[in-house]
Amino acid sequence: MENQYRKWFGEKRGRLAAQAFREKGWTAHYTETLEDAKKLLLETCLPKGVSVGLGGSETLGAMEILPVLRGSEYHLYDRYNCADHFEVCRESLMADYFLTSANAMTISGEMVNLDCSGSRVAAMAYGPRHVIVVVGVNKIVDTLEEAIARARSIAPMNCKRNGHKTPCTETGICTDCNIPGRMCNQLLITFNAQKFAGKYTIIIINEELGF
Ligand code: SF4
Repeated sequence: MENQYRKWFGEKRGRLAAQAFREKGWTAHYTETLEDAKKLLLETCLPKGVSVGLGGSETLGAMEILPVLRGSEYHLYDRYNCADHFEVCRESLMADYFLTSANAMTISGEMVNLDCSGSRVAAMAYGPRHVIVVVGVNKIVDTLEEAIARARSIAPMNCKRNGHKTPCTETGICTDCNIPGRMCNQLLITFNAQKFAGKYTIIIINEELGF
């Protein structure tokens, strides 16, 4: 059953974070539900006819956006259904829109992402003309240090999800491994979005989504 105090807390923090991102040049939205976020995304944020690249995301999975993007209204760089994943991720760097979630964000409007290959953080930093981030309030923390720690602490779950053969997928504990399958290779901190007006959009949802 939904806890009313958690919901209240999520709304307060979600709205505060959205305002902080707005002040840093993001287009920032707050929604109560994942369903509202999906509607907002498809009706307002993502125009029909554009090309779309994707970052791997449990949140987008929960939103069930993939069938829509695979339809005739979008040109999807489909990283989940392709012959060459590396090439599709490279092509995604030139997409009109890049759609993803995030590993952590601060209440003062910073975003932190930790990648394996770097294909997601590369696209978030540069390339696609627009970046849309869909994220649950569970990923809001107070400080940048906590955001980096959060990104690292949830990495074993991402390793497990992606089938990486790392020590953390056996024990659940990070050993700061030094092997080819290591997932924690590229860290991106997005401090500010003023450089390219209109490029970055964030939709903050008052639900627990992803890790
Ligand atoms: S550094 Fe290695 S052990 Fe630690 S979370 Fe990342 S992949 Fe797992």
